[in-house]
Amino acid sequence: MAALKACNILITGANRGLGLEMVKQLAEMPCSNRQIFACSREPDSPKSEALRELTKKHPNIIKTICLDVTNPVSIKEAAKKVGALTGKTGLNLLVNNAGLAKLGSTQNTTAEDMLAVFNTNVMGPFSVTQEFLPYLQTAAKASGTPGLSCNKAAVINISSSLGSMTCFHEIYNIIQAFPYCVSKASLNMMTVLSAHDCKSDGILFAALHPGWVKTDMGGDQALIEAKESVAGMLHVMSTLTEKQTGVYLDYTGKTIPW
Ligand code: NDP
Repeated sequence: MAALKACNILITGANRGLGLEMVKQLAEMPCSNRQIFACSREPDSPKSEALRELTKKHPNIIKTICLDVTNPVSIKEAAKKVGALTGKTGLNLLVNNAGLAKLGSTQNTTAEDMLAVFNTNVMGPFSVTQEFLPYLQTAAKASGTPGLSCNKAAVINISSSLGSMTCFHEIYNIIQAFPYCVSKASLNMMTVLSAHDCKSDGILFAALHPGWVKTDMGGDQALIEAKESVAGMLHVMSTLTEKQTGVYLDYTGKTIPW
């Protein structure tokens, strides 16, 4: 199995759920000089306890960064810290994982819920990506290798099959999450546009669906554990090449129709 060799990796929403599991699996992989910037909007609060414990186990690899994806000041401060810690190597992999789900239908979704979900799931990845772009560009230049890959410079947007206009039914019929579906469809479009715009900068973009996973968001009736989902997504990331920039895949590598 190909292993992900990205050196400097940043993950948003890393204090619980899929983000935390991703930090864990990446920290346990043998990879020299790896730095994982594990972001949490409240790194000192009880809800980040598991991340603090994990950081204690891997103090040379995991750096906890305070980052609220809906707060421009917080994003800028995080970028400054990460820029200083990555230097000329740059940032190889940014995983826009932080997400928010709200239930509702066309009839009963409130404007407040629409805005909150849009702010987190669309404006969040947009602002974070834009702020960290210079460090991704640095990594692409520093790599000195042709083509695109997650080891060189990449942005992975954690999407959902609920953002697919073709296969949202499978889960929407069980969990009606109108604002969430609209936000993930928008994140998908952003992935495609960014892949187009940043190809010449040497940066790969992809949207990944983690599967329906047992986390706070996925709930107990979900189909798979975070461990399986994250192992699958990390494997998929390790296989992505220039040919796949702008793709929409699930955690097994299967293409999801837009
Ligand atoms: P969880 O609800 O378990 O975790 C969400 C994470 O996002 C938490 O760390 C949370 O931090 C963080 N977060 C939310 N808002 C912000 C913010 N404004 N700034 C920074 N961090 C924030 O969700 P999952 O782990 O299940 O989901 C991770 C990603 O996977 C999401 O993008 C989700 O949409 C996607 N996904 C999940 C599926 C599933 O079945 N679980 C299915 C398809 C997609 P805090 O603790 O501070 O709230």
